[in-house]
Parts: sequence; C-alpha cells; structure tokens
Amino acid sequence: MTLTELTAHELHDRLSRKETSAVEIARAFTQRIEAVEDSVQAYNLLTGERAMAQAEAIDAKLARGESIGALAGIPMALKDNMCTEGIPTTCSSKMLQNFVPPYNATVVERLAEAGSVVLGKLNMDEFAMGSSTENSAFKQTCNPWDLARVPGGSSGGAVASVAADEAVFSLGSDTGGSIRQPAAFCGVVGLKPTYGYVSRYGLIAFASSLDQIGPITKDVTDCALVMNTIAGHDPKDSTSAPVDTPDFTKYLVNDIKGLRVGIPQEYFGSGLEPEVAAVIKAAIAKLEELGAIVDECSMPHTEYAMPTYYLIAPAECSSNLARYDGVSYGYRTEGATDIINMFKKTRSEGFGPEVKRRIMLGTYALSSGYYDAYYLKALKVRTLIKQDFDRAFAKFDVLLSPTAPTAAFKFGEKSANPLAMYMSDICTVPANLAGIPAISVPCGFANGLPVGMHLMGKAFDEGTLLRASYTFEQNTEHHKAKPKLGVS
Ligand code: GLN
Repeated sequence: MTLTELTAHELHDRLSRKETSAVEIARAFTQRIEAVEDSVQAYNLLTGERAMAQAEAIDAKLARGESIGALAGIPMALKDNMCTEGIPTTCSSKMLQNFVPPYNATVVERLAEAGSVVLGKLNMDEFAMGSSTENSAFKQTCNPWDLARVPGGSSGGAVASVAADEAVFSLGSDTGGSIRQPAAFCGVVGLKPTYGYVSRYGLIAFASSLDQIGPITKDVTDCALVMNTIAGHDPKDSTSAPVDTPDFTKYLVNDIKGLRVGIPQEYFGSGLEPEVAAVIKAAIAKLEELGAIVDECSMPHTEYAMPTYYLIAPAECSSNLARYDGVSYGYRTEGATDIINMFKKTRSEGFGPEVKRRIMLGTYALSSGYYDAYYLKALKVRTLIKQDFDRAFAKFDVLLSPTAPTAAFKFGEKSANPLAMYMSDICTVPANLAGIPAISVPCGFANGLPVGMHLMGKAFDEGTLLRASYTFEQNTEHHKAKPKLGVS
C-alpha cells in the first residue's frame, strides 16, 4: 500500500516506528494531489509550503526522541468555511474570495496543537448551502467514483479529497447533512457530532442553531481520533457545551450484542432508490447477525422535517449573512452611486442564486405578519420532531436509516430543481433539528456507487455510534474499496 492510502492510525504507527517520516508522508500527498487534482478538483487552495514546514517540525520532534500524538504529522485539509489565520477563507463565494481571516477557528488551533499538517482549503457549496457542491462560485468538484457525478454537498471537496487519497482526513460542517450525505456519496466515514460538542468559533455561520463541525475519515478509528482532538468545551463559543469529553477510542469495541437498533419507517419512503434500499437491508441483516436487536419504529413528525428546516435554516442565514454588505467584509461593488445602491449592488453581485434564494425565503419567514405563521410555527414543530427522538431513544440505543435516498447523481441532474436537490437531505436533516449526533458509514454499493448507512444516537452518546459503526466496519470490507480514478 502506498502512504496516501493509509489511515491516520496506520501512518502514526509507521511514524512512531520510524519506518517513514512526516516529510516523506507530506511529499507523497503533494505528489498524489498533483496526479489526481485535475480530475477531482477538491481544493480551493493548496498550502504546500506551510504543510512541509509543519511536517519538518514533527520530524524534528521525533529526532529529539520525543513521542508524538495520534494526529501529529498527519496531512489533512479543511472545508473552506473554517477560518485560517493569514490564509484565505472563501466559503466558495465571490463575496469572500479575497477574505483573509486574522484568526484561526478553534478547531484549526486544536489541530495545530496536535501537530496535524494542513494541506489546504476545500471546495464547498457557497456558504454551505447545497447538496452537490455545484453551488460553488469557483469550481466543480467531481466524485472520485465517477467523475461525471457530484460528490454530494455541501462538504464536497472535503469528502472527495479523502476518497481520492488527497488527504488522510478532513473537517466538514453539517447544518442539514453536509458531512454525512457527501460522505455516503464518496464512500467515507462522516460524523456530525452533537450540537455544541465541537466549537463553532471561527466557522463562518450559515444557520447557527444547526451548524456543527465534524470529522470525515477513511475509517471509524480515525473518526474517534479526530474527535479526541476537536471535541470539547470552548469559552469562545457561547453554544459550546460545558461537558467533559471522553477518550473516544475507548468505544472502538467490536461487540454490539444486545444493541437495540430502531428502524424508523418514515425514512424508507417513496423517494428511496430500490438499489439503495437493498444495500441498507443487507446492512441491517449484518447488524442482526452480529447480535443487535432490530425492530421497526415510527417517528410521525418526520414528514415535517424538510419544511421546518427550510424555514429555520434560511431564517438564520438571512440574519447571519446580513453582515456581507460591502462595508466590513469581503467583496464591494465598483462605482456605486450611493450607500443603498452600494449595499444592493454588492449583494447582487457577490452572492450566487442559491444563497439569494435562502436569504429571500428567510427574510420572508421572519418579516412582521409572517413571523408567527412561519418561523414561530417551525420552532414549535422542531420541538415535536425532537420529542419523536426522545420517545424513540427510550426504546432504542441507535436509529438506523439510509444516509441519502439515492447514490451520487449526475452533474446538472438536480441543479435546476431546488426542491429535488433539497430532498437529498431528507434522512439527515432531522438529526440537526434535534441536535443529536449521527454518522454515515460505508455499507455497500448500488450500481457501482457507494451507499452510506446512517446511525443516529442520543445527545452526547457518540460513543454508541462509534461502537456500532466500528463493529460493522470490522466485520465488513466496504470501507476498504477504493475508486480507480485512472491513476495508480
Ligand atoms: N443541503 C442542505 C442545505 O442546502 C444542508 C447543507 C449543510 O448541511 N450545510 O441547506
């Protein structure tokens, strides 16, 4: 196996045994990126020189005989909505094309302390709004399994880079499914942690009551290792939960005997592709064979999740994105006639069509006369959706569904129809509304394209999700499959 195909824990073992060096690993990734990036288009920006300096620092530590942490010397990359000091952070928007943050997001600081090597910033749907990464203002990221198909979104670059071995792991953000849906489409592991578990300080806000940063990795062990580094209370984020974090690797146990798995019937509705359904059915059978106790259940408010999300998320986005007015941040139009004209032209030119659609939807839902009928109603339904989960978790340890109703679709297939695009997140959105953790794990292929198994858990019970996913992974081979990409 070449270095770029290894997981973080495998690379760590080699580094600790001095079988390779951090510089050698970083070089292997630079070469890999050179070989495949023209086809995949995952990166907005490469930070090769800095990466090499970070790798050298780790080698110096090793040479001094010091021990290194699990992620030290491991090349990774960041979705381009996490602030990096002195390095452009664009949200794949013309609005922030030239924005260079003066500070690091807390997750970036934590990775730096851990000694991770940052390879660059990854393409995404503009301001994380989308499910295919087609809404990027800059480029189209391709699915490494089929370059004619989307990688999913909005963390498309983040998953494609890991699937194509252009990074060992990446960080994505998930507001309604943006880590899990693309992870499923590209055959990698993606975890949306419990709301508040990972600091959002320095994450450019889309919908603040839903946004959460999480790991995208090649296997479940790496997912636990990344959580060990990024999770935990942060006084700089007022919504960060003041809870202690466990050592997540203690949940990497190959045993799910007696685990109660609920199958909410509402997640298996009419939009589900039969080939995807068949793969999920086989995954359920596997879990049963491994000792899980599986039973069907009902979550009656699931049908309201999409309308609720598409009121709450746009409402919060219309407020969060009000700051992009050409005054203090990013893009400013040329030749405006007066201040109002400057605001108008800046926002018309700086935002793409999907972002404008969301701002208009949200502004409408929040406006006087409509607030009670739309926004306030959506908040009430959000509570009902959360109560469905509370009831289900009284009976079950985890809930299982497909991550997405289809496998990766072709470019252009859904981009003309926003509603069809929104439906890609039908299985993932409820976990964001309820604030609970959820993971997508590779569980097979439908017509040659990866399918993800989606497990949802109780708040702050990432441990059970990791144990269930790890057991599944240890007893299956799906995560070992690699896209061909036409290069060796
Ligand atoms: N696809 C969903 C949306 O467009 C979710 C995006 C996300 O999780 N950032 O809003």
